[in-house]
Amino acid sequence: MLYSNLTVNEQGHLAFAGYDTVELAKKYGTALYVIDEDKLRENCRMYIDAMEKHFGGGAMPLYASKALCFTEIYRIIAKCGMGTDIVSSGELYTAVKAGFPLEKAFFHGNNKTDADIEYAIKNGLGYFVVDNEEELDAISEIAGAYGVMQKILLRITPGIDPHTHKAIMTGSVDSKFGSAIETGRAYEMVEMALSGSNIVLKGFHCHIGSQIFECDPFCDAADIMLGFVAEVKKRYSFKTELLNLGGGFGVRYTEEDPYIDIDANIAQVASHVKKRCEEFGVDMPKILMEPGRSIVANTGITLYTVGSVKEIGELKNYVSIDGGMPDNPRYALYGSAYTVMLANRAEEKADFKCSIAGRCCESGDLIQEGVMLPRPKRGDTLAVLVTGAYNYSMASNYNKIPRPAVLLVGKSGERIAVRRETFEDLCLLDN
Ligand SMILES: *Cc1c(COP(=O)(O)O)cnc(C)c1O
Repeated sequence: MLYSNLTVNEQGHLAFAGYDTVELAKKYGTALYVIDEDKLRENCRMYIDAMEKHFGGGAMPLYASKALCFTEIYRIIAKCGMGTDIVSSGELYTAVKAGFPLEKAFFHGNNKTDADIEYAIKNGLGYFVVDNEEELDAISEIAGAYGVMQKILLRITPGIDPHTHKAIMTGSVDSKFGSAIETGRAYEMVEMALSGSNIVLKGFHCHIGSQIFECDPFCDAADIMLGFVAEVKKRYSFKTELLNLGGGFGVRYTEEDPYIDIDANIAQVASHVKKRCEEFGVDMPKILMEPGRSIVANTGITLYTVGSVKEIGELKNYVSIDGGMPDNPRYALYGSAYTVMLANRAEEKADFKCSIAGRCCESGDLIQEGVMLPRPKRGDTLAVLVTGAYNYSMASNYNKIPRPAVLLVGKSGERIAVRRETFEDLCLLDN
């Protein structure tokens, strides 16, 4: 199957990380997110090793926590020795709750409020990745009030089209993120950062987009960023200590998606970085990367129970499940591809073409269209594979549907990382 943690056991059931998924569905109820803790550690280790090997000392992956965020994941990431990228005070709060070492945290986003900035500084945040001039001024002022010299990176827009869905493309000149090199704005930001009080410019950041399978856009971005590093050295005698090349490596969701060898990709990017540094006569900065999707996607599956099967003549077949866009909005948002299977009948012939519909009052509430399954029946367990990234973290309570539990499984056993929401939880904030 797609990944080594997906197998079929003797009962003909889908097993995940060695666990019978039909048993898990029975024991914990559905809808249920299941996360393979060992695979998570393996993915972290792969990034740490690849970056050390190819970029050398000081290089570090930062886990982009927006992909999957709860307290336990910060503990796991911290233990692996990774840093993290956060995009809101809510994520920062979660990291604080988990005891994550905040000196290794980088605060992103194109509109950090004064409250965000104050909260982060009070908690000893390592770095802000500064998006714009207003934010730079606000950080300078608030850091001053707290008597802090705040470390920052500047978010730079390299002007790259990474050939991905436009909703997840972030590095082009007209992006809402960062300051463009092309327009000269990036240099103005450097000047302001260097003359600002209570801020220490440590380097630069770029992030070109997500779900990118080709290596070229990453190499191009590295080339452009090092050209910028060299120009900044020439103009301002500024030595770039940190260069953060962002996240975005693609993930195989279906058999049609290509394999991506992340170690080989990192090796290629590293050779560009080294070559450019030599060419331009600049010292190689410490390199950071921010993988999110490629750290967590294949660590997760979602289990549902089939409720009904509707055959509309020759037109279409719908299989309805006890979840949908509230726990996985990605098909509704981007038309994202997923692999779907019947977990309790994993070996049966898949000859029934159908669309998987959620339970919301919304025709667009679909998980996938045109998938092949053995003809399902009420009570079957349906598994959607590779849902570790941007599922739980994007979940909502639309239609007042309680969010599923997140169950961690692995060699050390099974444990609930996030308990299932109750109806009481749903009204907790109502007056
Ligand atoms: C979303 C995001 C990431 C992670 O992207 P993935 O595609 O999940 O690897 C990294 N950095 C920034 C700034 C982001 O916005």
